[in-house]
Amino acid sequence: MSKKLLLKDAHIEGIRYFETYRKQGGYEAAEKALKMTPDEILEEVKASGLRGRGGAGFPTGMKWSFLAKPEGVPRHLVVNADESEPGTFKDRYLMEFLPHLLIEGMLISSYCLGSNTSYIYIRGEYSWIPDILEEAIEEAKAAGFLGENILGTGFDLEIYVQRGGGAYICGEETALLESLEGKRGNPRLKPPFPAVKGLWERPTVVNNVESIAAIVPIMDITGAEYAKIGVGRSTGTKLISACGNINKPGVYEIDMTITVEEFIYSEEYCGGIPNGKKLKACIPGGSSVPIVPANLLLKTINGEPRYMNYESLADGGFATGTMMGSGGFIVLDEDQCIVEHTMTLARFYNHESCGQCTPCREGTGWMYKILKKIENGQGKMEDIDLLWDIQRKIEGNTICPLGDAAAWPVAAAIRHFRDEFEWHIKNPELSQTQNYGLANY
Ligand code: NAD
Ligand code: SF4
Repeated sequence: MSKKLLLKDAHIEGIRYFETYRKQGGYEAAEKALKMTPDEILEEVKASGLRGRGGAGFPTGMKWSFLAKPEGVPRHLVVNADESEPGTFKDRYLMEFLPHLLIEGMLISSYCLGSNTSYIYIRGEYSWIPDILEEAIEEAKAAGFLGENILGTGFDLEIYVQRGGGAYICGEETALLESLEGKRGNPRLKPPFPAVKGLWERPTVVNNVESIAAIVPIMDITGAEYAKIGVGRSTGTKLISACGNINKPGVYEIDMTITVEEFIYSEEYCGGIPNGKKLKACIPGGSSVPIVPANLLLKTINGEPRYMNYESLADGGFATGTMMGSGGFIVLDEDQCIVEHTMTLARFYNHESCGQCTPCREGTGWMYKILKKIENGQGKMEDIDLLWDIQRKIEGNTICPLGDAAAWPVAAAIRHFRDEFEWHIKNPELSQTQNYGLANY
């Protein structure tokens, strides 16, 4: 059984409220941290090996150490709670059931980074959660863990919750900052990174909800102990939101040593695939990461089991591997149509493109139209090569990663499931009337 660090108290009734959270040892990590110097906390975070849980997996300690500290310029911590990646709903779970874990993590992190005003930018569709967070902020303030001169340390902190307007692109950190400043959420060119020029051009750390929540157990058990959990550079625990064709969809905390097979089939996690169906493919890290067919999902190309961690999922690069991403684990059984699935994603990225760069604005629209044509039985064989060509021209040629995120699912679908595209083209009548599921993957 995986070790639980973040969700260990999630089952306790009333854990959402300060009193219960405190009874379970809540805010003790903050009390400990506030007796340390910011540099000592930074060393713990670096020692933990924690990697950003939003999707990119960038080392959190390294990101914090990049924060510029010009004299007299305020710095900010911004929590990215604009969780919009299809298949990803772990941050929602944390905020809904354990809001104080996030607030405590923000207190420790803000103290370490020297932020006296920190923000939570939350996805607009999570309409009921800001009230939960604001209530937790008020409770923490009443207990002396927020506001002025926290625990007599002289450190002041205010936390504000900002609701997003429902645009996926505002989860991209620089678009988020633009939106937080009251502007249209268009991504900025990087560099400069937010750590140097972020909110209102001030040094800013933008971290995912789960990354900041993980700071609490790191302070609790020490960075060195946290680093002992997991394997290699995949330290600590990771939340996985599992959905699709599985018996037990939900949010699971894993320690990144279990295999993909165990995660899908064991009763502790997804509980297998309904109706005895076979596994066809999986997207393990949210819709932006490449889809992988079952044969490459359960084993690497070298015949090793594939594990639920950053390195093993990526093994073989994009040709045979995928990515841990945000941990949005989507399972497809043998009845699912890969062309329809890819078309749905293409429509999503086309709709969510901010339109700033031509390859993304135009390319996502083209990909959607071509996929729709193929799905509806009106495609030609050369359309598959055209699709391939368009996705290649998008990848790496845009301001923000939405372009790559739109290109990769198309590339992976063609690479691994070309026969399904061809089947739609060769069987126009059938493809208009039924979904094609290939049972042999
Ligand atoms: P990125 O690799 O550009 O950056 C990762 C983080 O490291 C950023 O905060 C960036 O500012 C920082 N960073 C990188 N190099 C730096 C440097 N030299 N100096 C200072 N800071 C530096 O990736 P990203 O655009 O932040 O994230 C992309 C990922 O987001 C995708 O892979 C996808 O998995 C994920 N994603 C998640 C969601 C979600 O809902 N959770 C939605 C869409 C995409
Ligand atoms: Fe906007 Fe797409 Fe360019 Fe990102 S890649 S800035 S979403 S047009």
